[in-house]
Amino acid sequence: MKKIISLAKRRGFIFQSSEIYGGFSSCYDFGPLGVEMKNNIKRAWWDEMTKNHDNIVGLDAAILMSPKVWEASGHLTAGFADTLVECKSCHKRFRVDEIEGQGRDRRGTVPKCPECGGELTEPRKFNLMMKTFVGPVEDEAAVTYLRAETCQGIYVNFQNVLNSMRLKIPFGICQIGKSFRNEITPGDFIYRTREFEQMEMQWFCKPSRINTNLARSASRGSLTNKSRIENWTLDEWFDYWKEERFNWYLKLGIKKENLRIREHKKEELSHYAVAGADIEYKFPFGWREIEGIHNRGDWDLKNHSKFSGQDLSYFDEETKEKYIPYIIETSGGVDRSFLVFLIDAYEEIKGGRTKTTKATKEIEILLKLDKKLAPIKVAVLPLVRNKPELVKKAKEVYKILKPYFVCQYDELGSIGRRYRRIDETGVPFALTIDFESLKQEDLTVRDRDTMKQARVKIKDLVKVLKEKLEN
Ligand code: ATP
Repeated sequence: MKKIISLAKRRGFIFQSSEIYGGFSSCYDFGPLGVEMKNNIKRAWWDEMTKNHDNIVGLDAAILMSPKVWEASGHLTAGFADTLVECKSCHKRFRVDEIEGQGRDRRGTVPKCPECGGELTEPRKFNLMMKTFVGPVEDEAAVTYLRAETCQGIYVNFQNVLNSMRLKIPFGICQIGKSFRNEITPGDFIYRTREFEQMEMQWFCKPSRINTNLARSASRGSLTNKSRIENWTLDEWFDYWKEERFNWYLKLGIKKENLRIREHKKEELSHYAVAGADIEYKFPFGWREIEGIHNRGDWDLKNHSKFSGQDLSYFDEETKEKYIPYIIETSGGVDRSFLVFLIDAYEEIKGGRTKTTKATKEIEILLKLDKKLAPIKVAVLPLVRNKPELVKKAKEVYKILKPYFVCQYDELGSIGRRYRRIDETGVPFALTIDFESLKQEDLTVRDRDTMKQARVKIKDLVKVLKEKLEN
């Protein structure tokens, strides 16, 4: 992790928030490369949801919502609270689930502080919602909360989206946005922070009861195709989305041996969930969740109907039945997946990859990011800096490519050093302008992973690079 954190800072991916003031605990800023990569992750997810699947539309709801939303969702009651113990001497707080098994006594309490060995308080609930005030007066009437998850914005807009888009069940609504949780134990770099981004999709489908009716009608011959996806059961959708989401990480290059799905045990299910599973990644600090897939039943729309007094049910034209849709949710973190993509792409090569010189080389770092996610796609390099005609040509090429790709122009240091630098930031293609280029109007395109070079005519560059980046 130290190496990842150092690379992230050195190369402009992630900085500590408010660093000149000594930093602000568990908050991070994404630098020039970080913001490009983060946008690429979000774009890849958005395209996956809205282009690679049918019947999913997007939404961008406000962070601030009526506090009633959080009453209905169960976040203001015990449902969204961590159980904590506090050390009576060092006053550090610990999540009971995190220190489970570390010397519990027969009454089930943890007798000693894992940090200083001090006595611990009885476990108590601590709410994770971040309170804020809207308007000029800071009284109870002005209290609301920074949203703790993006999905509530989807539920409260269910009817608006359904009516305006004339959708038919099953369909999905997806959203990317900031969420805030007053986490007790933030840490592990950007793994657990108090401000983070989520990518969530809520899939509205028929309750199993309706499907059972449909299956019966089908067996009587009144419906033709029993296996149509409209008639899939909740369990089938749950399995489908687990697989789809797992495959998304694989498609973007995560190594299969570092990913797994872990089904939730009954006692760890969230207050809203009927079933749940986590996609976990093998971080340097152990297997941890990066995305949750939950079968939320009708908890959300039923509760919002009850608290708002609005009927949030759906009328099924086919079966003539009215029902509250059930929900399968996929809920991933942008920041957590950012960390996963960074860690999984990181490679160290002892002695370097080039075998052409005899000089002892230090460890080379190679960031094998998927081309879709790489923050900079193309680097343009004149072979040497002290030949004005090469520099001029390289700048011309840079200008041609800039409107099409995120490019970097680099002339500082030897060509070998520059290759090392761009390998370290995961740039898929390096273009070198050499003396041949001046005669032939071409240049070499170096592939980051194979280091193979091929000459390409400058007039064909945009087309060739587009093809290479898409494959
Ligand atoms: P954890 O058990 O790690 O606290 P959770 O089960 O509470 O996570 P969910 O409520 O299911 O998480 O949120 C869905 C996703 O949002 C998580 O899989 C994660 O990627 C992201 N996420 C949740 N909390 C944080 C956080 N504090 N910092 C960064 N990402 C987060």
